[in-house]
Amino acid sequence: MAAAAIQNSLLAALPRKSYLRLLPGLAPIELVFGEVLYEAGDAIRDVYFPSQSLVSLLTLVEGHLALEVGLVGREGMVGFPLALGVDVSPVRALVQGGGAALKMSAARFRSEFKASPPLQRELQRYVHAMMVQIAQTAGCNRFHVVEARLARWLLMTRDRVRSGQFRMTHEFLSHMLGVRRVGVTEAASALQRRKLIEYSRGSISILDDRGLEAACCSCYRVVKDMHDPA
Ligand SMILES: [Zn+2]
Repeated sequence: MAAAAIQNSLLAALPRKSYLRLLPGLAPIELVFGEVLYEAGDAIRDVYFPSQSLVSLLTLVEGHLALEVGLVGREGMVGFPLALGVDVSPVRALVQGGGAALKMSAARFRSEFKASPPLQRELQRYVHAMMVQIAQTAGCNRFHVVEARLARWLLMTRDRVRSGQFRMTHEFLSHMLGVRRVGVTEAASALQRRKLIEYSRGSISILDDRGLEAACCSCYRVVKDMHDPA
């Protein structure tokens, strides 16, 4: 239990005393691929600290067009509006990498947050990094070509799940990147021809990390440096 919690770097950054105080309120849970943790407009009933899982934050336009604006993995927390005193999610939170996480009820989180200056500091830092990520994603979607964006997305996913191999369909990726499926297919084929990735039947493997880093846009580095200042 303790080992699983420490795999989340937001929790790992807390002083031991603060972390131990949180521990009884954290329940281990397996998040399932495709599960919706909140719809946009839903009350945030629980927060999640991913350790091996990955959650995509999607903004909805006209109620049905979904575009990814943020990714939360082991570096963060799903449900961070609570840290700003907001208890409704403005985005859909969709599990796109199944795996372990720790869950805490919103009520418990609110009272722990109030009582713990170290937790407040970590959340402030994290929420700011998420603002940078969301702003950079908006700029990226407007100015960068699909191939570079796909490379960025694959690297961001790799960093969060700490694996170069993950499950992903083109349909899902088209929502993530806000492009039609054919655009995703073309971009993935181009990266595959360059031997940077391999994909088959909903599974993607990164073959060449360095090469993929060279193929991705500068947005990847901006967001990485913000989340991971060391
Ligand atoms: Zn970009």
